[in-house]
Amino acid sequence: MSEGDELISKFHEMVDQAEAVVAFTGAGISAESGIPTYRGAGGLWSKYDPDKYANISYFMNDPTYYWNFFKDVRYPVISKAEPNAGHKALVELERSGKLIGVITQNIDGLHQLAGSENVVELHGNTRRIRCMECQKLYGFDEVRELVDASLPPACSCGGGLKPEVVFFGEALPIGAISRADALVNDCDLFISIGSSLVVFPAAQFPMVAKGNGAKLVIVNIDPTPYDGIADIVLHRSASEVLPRLVVGGEE
Ligand code: NAD
Repeated sequence: MSEGDELISKFHEMVDQAEAVVAFTGAGISAESGIPTYRGAGGLWSKYDPDKYANISYFMNDPTYYWNFFKDVRYPVISKAEPNAGHKALVELERSGKLIGVITQNIDGLHQLAGSENVVELHGNTRRIRCMECQKLYGFDEVRELVDASLPPACSCGGGLKPEVVFFGEALPIGAISRADALVNDCDLFISIGSSLVVFPAAQFPMVAKGNGAKLVIVNIDPTPYDGIADIVLHRSASEVLPRLVVGGEE
């Protein structure tokens, strides 16, 4: 058995012994569904600058930049992305009664599409789009059609539209933060998956969980600032590691 396989077996035992597992996910878990992480982005995606398309001041001054990005990249990539083996393994863990919730930084909705029930979206969901005037809610496909009619797209009331995501420069939704805090406080095993753990305040969760006495496991291809305090660190892909926790885990 290789060192990595031994660690995965140990991880599996830790899950078996835990009573309340929480998964915290970042862009890495969706990378194998074809949605690039910010730093891994290439091709057409890199034509657009996240400091512009994900920044609230920029969006309010020049919404057309975001909507061009939506039309060229965000909609085509996210509308055809499907949950991968990593998302699906978390669904199985929840159904087995081990996993009490997923806290995600992702805005792609793939956990819910996979079938996860208790998902806390810290940064919102790009598939939901709302009128900034009358608050009417639009779906992803509906707005794709509106974008063909006018750029930036407009609500039937004439108001501007905004995706329900937390842009850089905006506060995190209070409801999501308190639900996430409750999960972090209730868990005895906290698994961080596919997150560089550098975006605050989300990145503080592993530290809080560990401080409360929970075990901490990090599954991330690259090193993170919290590797040193984790009980297990796996620098491997989420879609390789997570399914091995739910199908016996043994080799
Ligand atoms: P990040 O881009 O900072 O880090 C992603 C991490 O995932 C990297 O450290 C990388 O090593 C790791 N990784 C890449 N592929 C992996 C794989 N297959 N398995 C395991 N790990 C893998 O992402 P972040 O920490 O989530 O934060 C960036 C911000 O970007 C978040 O706020 C998020 O809202 C946003 N974002 C979301 C999406 C999405 O919804 N899918 C995509 C890009 C960015």
